[in-house]
Amino acid sequence: MADNVNTLPFFYGNITREEAEDYLRQAGMGSGLYLLRQSRNYLGGFALSVASSGRCYHYTIERQPNETFAIAGGKSHRSPEDVIDYHSQEKDGLVCLLKKPCNRPKNMQPKVGPFEDLKERLILEYVKQTWNLQGAALEQAIISQRPQLEKMIAKTAHEKMPWFHGSIAREDSEPRLQNGARTNGKFLIRQRDMNGSYALCLLHEGQVMHYRIDKNRHGKLSIPDGKKFDTLWQLVEHYSYKPDGLLRVLTEPCPRPGGDIGLIGRPPLPNPSLGSTLGTLQNVAGEIFSKIKGAPTRWNRGSQNKNKDNTYATGIPGSQADNKEAMPMDTEVYESPYADPDELRSSTVDRNQLFLEDGELGSGNFGTVMRGVYKMRKSEKQVAVKILKNDDNNPAVREEMLREANVMQQLDNPYIVRMIGICEAEELMLVMELAELGPLNKFLQKHRQTSIKNITELVHQVSMGMKYLEENNFVHRDLAARNVLLVTQHYAKISDFGLSKAVGEEQNYYKAKSHGKWPVKWYAPECINYFKFSCKSDVWSFGVLMWEAFSYGQKPYKGMKGNEVLQMVEGGKRLDSPVNCPPEIYDLMRTCWTYKVDERPGFAVVEPRLREYYYDIAQ
Ligand code: ATP
Repeated sequence: MADNVNTLPFFYGNITREEAEDYLRQAGMGSGLYLLRQSRNYLGGFALSVASSGRCYHYTIERQPNETFAIAGGKSHRSPEDVIDYHSQEKDGLVCLLKKPCNRPKNMQPKVGPFEDLKERLILEYVKQTWNLQGAALEQAIISQRPQLEKMIAKTAHEKMPWFHGSIAREDSEPRLQNGARTNGKFLIRQRDMNGSYALCLLHEGQVMHYRIDKNRHGKLSIPDGKKFDTLWQLVEHYSYKPDGLLRVLTEPCPRPGGDIGLIGRPPLPNPSLGSTLGTLQNVAGEIFSKIKGAPTRWNRGSQNKNKDNTYATGIPGSQADNKEAMPMDTEVYESPYADPDELRSSTVDRNQLFLEDGELGSGNFGTVMRGVYKMRKSEKQVAVKILKNDDNNPAVREEMLREANVMQQLDNPYIVRMIGICEAEELMLVMELAELGPLNKFLQKHRQTSIKNITELVHQVSMGMKYLEENNFVHRDLAARNVLLVTQHYAKISDFGLSKAVGEEQNYYKAKSHGKWPVKWYAPECINYFKFSCKSDVWSFGVLMWEAFSYGQKPYKGMKGNEVLQMVEGGKRLDSPVNCPPEIYDLMRTCWTYKVDERPGFAVVEPRLREYYYDIAQ
């Protein structure tokens, strides 16, 4: 796994090629001596440096879109470590077999790149200002979308750099560089067209040199015949320490006229050239994102940013961040409609403001679920309306629905379907946020091409919602893939609180009086044997939910009866791993199926474990 590289003794982090060669030389340059370092030009990639016959060879290990790693043109592997294991057995294009790791000197940690240090603040400011979030909503957005946000920041950070002058003509760039101090190596980058082509303009002995930067069809940027980079800031970083085909290295960024981006207060950075390029990021983090063009506001993001294929743009039109993958924060159900102080919080919905539409979204024990529109003070909300079918006028059914509404009303989390209100009219109606892609199990049955990364993203969101329930002492008692609804392919919400209960902090379980109509295949042994339900029994169900998700919506324990399942579990057997399920994920499922409640982890442990794996594969 890529994150684990930090623990490999031969991983050096963000060091340059020259530094790598120095380390190999110091270690004797024996043929097959190797070390691993972070790629300085490919996001999430690595570089392998190998000594052979007194020379050093460097290979890029690219992170491929399907989350595997490969040396260009070579075999794909699950991790950079696997690439190394493979090449210690097979040359397969390498100059020699990898024989001996060149370990880091004692007490040396892998070197952290300058961008890593700044990322945290940039992400925080970006999310705060783009989606107008704060508090828990801000924190949850960053936790669930960190890999996507990191990529976005990396790809757009240049727009805010002093050396990026936007779309100016060649003739206009020259006086900018000639003005003021005519330091050799002073530079700026201008945009040449909207297809991702730029020019690097560099002052050398009083003359301005213009180097074209093209973007190839894989999105990689390079000057003609030069090294390829994922981002402009990586390109600038590279040419700031090495001319590599340019007349000289980049030294001083030419400030944008009118740009108020100063260097004052900048903490010293280890590399002086980086200090003048990347260092400024830190200063501007607070102000830059407010200037992003067309960033969605809280109230328009749902409708205006929606594309026809049911995805949402990121809200940065025309920038490299335009990205087809919706983030939960782009939708109108990320925050509660009542988060807007201008909307009156009320648990009842006025029937005159509720418009039901034709077509059922689904149906269940209670009746049907219809799509509708609820006109609020400031906005119109698309909603799902659960309508009680009370043909036989059974008061118990009505009470059950009111109990569900009562639980839902107390919950407010981005990964839980919120109740908007109850409407008492021709029927009793529960008005909820709309999750229009429907249940997770059905979605995955229909979309077998959904990637492991995507499934991990969704189940991680479910674990975040469950962690919230656990923190607030609620047990769900019906956690299953059918009760996870999708807002988009990248946004899941937990639903169906019909069986849910609040539990005490002390006595943190609910004891049912008798056996009911229970989803026993999802239940932990203590639920069936002792009628005891706790967050830990929800963890068991979550393990089954994970199994369903990674099996693309298959039924667990297919063909077995409830009592046979219990016997199997009591006998120590568990569901087999779904085909192609990552071992880390199956391992977590097995942990969720720990027999003894006390030994079974809670969501406070499960969520971070899933998060770690998700970040790792989604980098
Ligand atoms: P059950 O038999 O599981 O108790 P139920 O009567 O509680 O069913 P739900 O499971 O809540 O009903 O909903 C039935 C179906 O309606 C869901 O499977 C889903 O397809 C659809 N549905 C429910 N809530 C929503 C929602 N908020 N947004 C979109 N569709 C929904």
